[in-house]
Amino acid sequence: MTKLYIGTSGWSYIDWVGIFYKSPERLLSQYCRYFKTVEMDSSFYTIPSIEVMNGIARTIPHGFKMSLKMPRYITHESLLGKKGKFDDILKQFYRNIEPILRRGSAAAILIQLPPKFGYDPVTLENFLSILDDRYRYAVEFREPSWLKPETYKLLERYNAAYTIVDEPLLPPEAIVTTDIAYIRWHGRGRRPWYNYRYTDHELREWIPKIEAIMDQVDHIYGYFNNHFHGYAVENALQILDMFGLLDEKGREELEKIKNRLDKPYIKKRMLKMDEYLIDTLDLKGILELLTDKKRLERGLRISDKELHFTRADPDQIVADIRDYKVIIDSQERMIIHNCGDWQRLHMEKKLCKHLVKIIVAIPREDALNIVRDLAKNIDLWSFEYLETPTT
Ligand SMILES: [Zn+2]
Repeated sequence: MTKLYIGTSGWSYIDWVGIFYKSPERLLSQYCRYFKTVEMDSSFYTIPSIEVMNGIARTIPHGFKMSLKMPRYITHESLLGKKGKFDDILKQFYRNIEPILRRGSAAAILIQLPPKFGYDPVTLENFLSILDDRYRYAVEFREPSWLKPETYKLLERYNAAYTIVDEPLLPPEAIVTTDIAYIRWHGRGRRPWYNYRYTDHELREWIPKIEAIMDQVDHIYGYFNNHFHGYAVENALQILDMFGLLDEKGREELEKIKNRLDKPYIKKRMLKMDEYLIDTLDLKGILELLTDKKRLERGLRISDKELHFTRADPDQIVADIRDYKVIIDSQERMIIHNCGDWQRLHMEKKLCKHLVKIIVAIPREDALNIVRDLAKNIDLWSFEYLETPTT
């Protein structure tokens, strides 16, 4: 019998407290009461330490399956080896996630390619051929030139799964290339896509598709990535319910989540800023709108010595500031950061002093482009709080 594992992409979302989580502590333990699988997506940004992975392995119940996202350094920076070596990073990744394998809980490792990475079977094949075959793999393409029989044949040869996606850009083709299937529901919203709540009807359309996949594979791993407001939790539980896989406790929880989400939730502070005003303001003026006077001043006082850029392209900025990490991705309209102030501020979409410092430190024109877009399209940006995954 096929084992259908449905869960969410990530679990460490503070805005799920009150919707799904009862308290902000021990999130993974709370998660495991209702789900049998999760996709760890934070391993994409930072390789989790072996201590963290040991803690996770101790927390998850027997039979729980965890998928992990391949570090972005390998997929997005080195482009699977096309733009530099990744051997040390890959070794470290395997070493640190070993506790999950030892626990018998490894589902699959997700290799998500960047959006502009087009058809290149040689690079992909070289990469697949060196992977540790104690793990299973799923490849997620985000560029349509990959979608052809040669690609599927290549995946078949390496027993890797084609990642079936539900998102606005690529077709939701249910292609099966091995004895496991991997599905990701990203959401169908405007950018960011994952600010989206699938309707019952949209989910029901997936039922015959999943049934058809079940006939061809041993295991299906499916993850909802539309994590805003806890939509992913609701939608994942709904799919489990449609397959009769929810017990009484699970169905009760699903009803509670539905009710909480149906209530008009307290609107987060949305900046409604006048376009004309924004164009007349200088950089500091706009920054003050995006934060407040105090944080602006504190940001300006941070010394250059405390800031280190690993990448400073107009499209993407990756920096370390004091002990924190910042990623500003203007293409994806996303800011990822991990300071304590940001943990609160990201929910109201307000910048912290570290963001202020980084923005004033990059070339003036890039900085202005970013803050103007933030001010004019704040609702299209996602502000992500990335904490070191904890149990
Ligand atoms: Zn900060």
